[in-house]
Amino acid sequence: MNTSPFVYQRANSVDDAISLLQQHGDGAKLIAGGHSLLPIMKLRLAEPDMLIDIGRLPELQGTRREHGEIVIGALATHHQVATDQEIRSSIPLLADTASRVGDRQVRNRGTIGGALAHADAAADYPAAILALEATIVARGPGGARQIPAREFFLDFLTTALASDEILTEIRVPVPADGHGWSYQKLANQASGYAIVGVGAIAILDGSGTFDDVRVGVTGTAAVAWRAAATEAALRGQKPESGVVAAAADKVDDGVEALDDLHGSAEYRLRVTRGLTRRAILQAVARAQQRG
Ligand SMILES: Cc1cc2nc3c(=O)[nH]c(=O)nc-3n(C[C@H](O)[C@H](O)[C@H](O)COP(=O)(O)OP(=O)(O)OC[C@H]3O[C@@H](n4cnc5c(N)ncnc54)[C@H](O)[C@@H]3O)c2cc1C
Repeated sequence: MNTSPFVYQRANSVDDAISLLQQHGDGAKLIAGGHSLLPIMKLRLAEPDMLIDIGRLPELQGTRREHGEIVIGALATHHQVATDQEIRSSIPLLADTASRVGDRQVRNRGTIGGALAHADAAADYPAAILALEATIVARGPGGARQIPAREFFLDFLTTALASDEILTEIRVPVPADGHGWSYQKLANQASGYAIVGVGAIAILDGSGTFDDVRVGVTGTAAVAWRAAATEAALRGQKPESGVVAAAADKVDDGVEALDDLHGSAEYRLRVTRGLTRRAILQAVARAQQRG
């Protein structure tokens, strides 16, 4: 199917894009890589009157290290996130997650900012972004504001971004040296999207006990979440397999799983618990190797 008619305008700057969003209201949509927006426009699930192209703005590009954080421009493609040396060495969970998005074509065009703003329930990044306790930076008519990952994903295709705000960068605190990590994913065989995806970070103290452990889950439900009950059950414990399995069984505490053609709610929950266990055990093994 073709899209409905729209006006195309390339923004000259972030401020220009914000003022175009303000002028044209709900009828206008930003476009970055176009790999989520154009498919839903072709299905007529979105029918914007105007597309504001931010895909070439230099302000939204590049990666830098700043005060113990890696700052990633919204326009970094999945391929750039997966291959950037600084990201690979400091936050390997994010690089690995990016390398598992879709296929080569999607990774070369799709952007991390677009993926986060779109907030598809089956998107890969939210698991890592939550486990890494990243901050999303948004700019709108009133200036810039920082949104913790935990407050960013609100519902299916819904984030804390206002309609006249642009996601400009993602700030990711570098986890402690010697941390372990893992991204476990059950992928849709046709698209690559996550039916379930679990990201984990494990930090062990000198005696091999969990000092910190963080788990983010995507795909299972309409909105990605931090597995607080699992994390609480592990902190201060030795990472023995029985302890990890019991903690992983708490991962879906209070969560309503999706039930659709890709998997029943019961199936998704079983997979989520299994992948949580695997993710934590692999993160622990990596922490033990690096520690
Ligand atoms: C065949 C296929 C397979 C895929 N497989 C996967 C997969 O396995 N895992 C996965 O996670 N994703 C997958 N995707 C989605 C892909 O990762 C997209 O690249 C991503 O979701 C959107 O990024 P984009 O730059 O293309 O955004 P666009 O499509 O340009 O925009 C998406 C939405 O975000 C808004 N937006 C874009 N940039 C900004 C910004 N800076 N600030 C505010 N709003 C913004 C747009 O207005 C639009 O509403 C797949 C896509 C396709 C087509």
